[in-house]
Amino acid sequence: MMNVPPKHILSKTTFIYGCQCPKRLWLNKFMPKEKDALTDNQKAVFQQGTDIGLLAQQLFPNGVDATPSFKYDYPKAVAQTAAYIQQGKSIIYEAAFQYEGVLVILDILVKINNHWFAFEVKSSTKVKDTFIHDAALQFYVITHAGIDLKDISIVHLNNEYIRKGDLDINLLFQNTSIYNEVLQKQDEIDAKIDELKLVLNLPTPPVIELSKHCHIPYTCDFIGYCSKGLPIEEIDFGERNIDIISLSNFVNQLKYPLYFMDFETWMSAVPECDGHWPFRQVPFQFSLHIQDSVKSDVKHIEYLALNTYADLSIFIHKLIDVLGLDGSILVYNKTFENARLNELKLDFPLLIEPITRIQERLVDLMTPFRNKHLYMPEMQGSYSIKNVLPALVPELSYTNLSINNGSDASSIFYNLSNETDSAIVKQTREHLLEYCKLDTFAMMKILEKIYSII
Ligand code: SF4
Repeated sequence: MMNVPPKHILSKTTFIYGCQCPKRLWLNKFMPKEKDALTDNQKAVFQQGTDIGLLAQQLFPNGVDATPSFKYDYPKAVAQTAAYIQQGKSIIYEAAFQYEGVLVILDILVKINNHWFAFEVKSSTKVKDTFIHDAALQFYVITHAGIDLKDISIVHLNNEYIRKGDLDINLLFQNTSIYNEVLQKQDEIDAKIDELKLVLNLPTPPVIELSKHCHIPYTCDFIGYCSKGLPIEEIDFGERNIDIISLSNFVNQLKYPLYFMDFETWMSAVPECDGHWPFRQVPFQFSLHIQDSVKSDVKHIEYLALNTYADLSIFIHKLIDVLGLDGSILVYNKTFENARLNELKLDFPLLIEPITRIQERLVDLMTPFRNKHLYMPEMQGSYSIKNVLPALVPELSYTNLSINNGSDASSIFYNLSNETDSAIVKQTREHLLEYCKLDTFAMMKILEKIYSII
């Protein structure tokens, strides 16, 4: 018979909440209905974490899984893990342990030569401090529950792995031992558990104001609740500034025809195609507004790949073709487009020359705003195009678009590969085209505004 423990008081997730903010811990326990809804992007990040966890199990194949048959039946998972250990199983996925009311679930527990090794999987290319902190709690609970861990490691993605042919799991993942760091944190963890258990005994939530901590290390899901009834602060966004000389120098470097160019990219933690690496930003769309001379009509050219498997050579050949040989190519945040072009050079060594010529013509329209050569309080201290545009060209706005930011465009395009309803695919593609088109149209209008000011 399995020995099923009572329900836990704290879990790794709620411990993390409590470390960020005791009020978050309390609200999560007693007022969970007040949580903010998850955004599409947050859902995608969670799903990605789950998928990577499953993939990493292949590093240690043929294990047993302690995931409970009913969601949230954690006491059963703890009992199942103990039973597996007793039966002599040497690879256990989702191994659950509980000690003095604290529950942790470890991605992979492995016994090698009679020693236990713990592996926690992260869909990241680095070992972050927060991972070490979380693993310190896992180590604390697992060792107090009677398992003598010889080592504990983070299994993370290897950013130097470039896919060629079938996915090579052993190259995709890297293990980094964090045993020493975790060991040093054990006293701290012990004290924190006691402190957080006291928080959960409070009759009302601790009084804590909104501040930077609400977003560090993760964005809290009670921001809506904690902001209720707060007066909207008058924030001082500084003084208007117009530096005519610098703005003139900026426009004087431009050579017609002008090309206003913008790329959209998608990415995935696990490289899906040859030549991709974890989280590679793969260009799938560009928009181009072309102005032959100051007074000439404007042309618009766009490209949107069919899906994530589309051949990148179509993207780059089309781009080289439409950009011609002369004229300035304006982008907003040159680093981004330039980096994508550098990556395309690696993909297509025969195109190094034409791509380099494109790079030499790039002009960053963000520069006058980043340097505050043109600043208005309406920009709210930001030089993002999303803030600059409404300040300079109030009649143009992103707010009415179905897709109105790059990260949504990226995940929407990525998810489109699984969409079977052709009407939805068609409409979504139109929204993507609309969004990217506005980016380059906005750049053109911003430049017009600069001309009118000087
Ligand atoms: S929004 Fe901020 S203050 Fe409120 S619970 Fe979350 S972290 Fe704490």
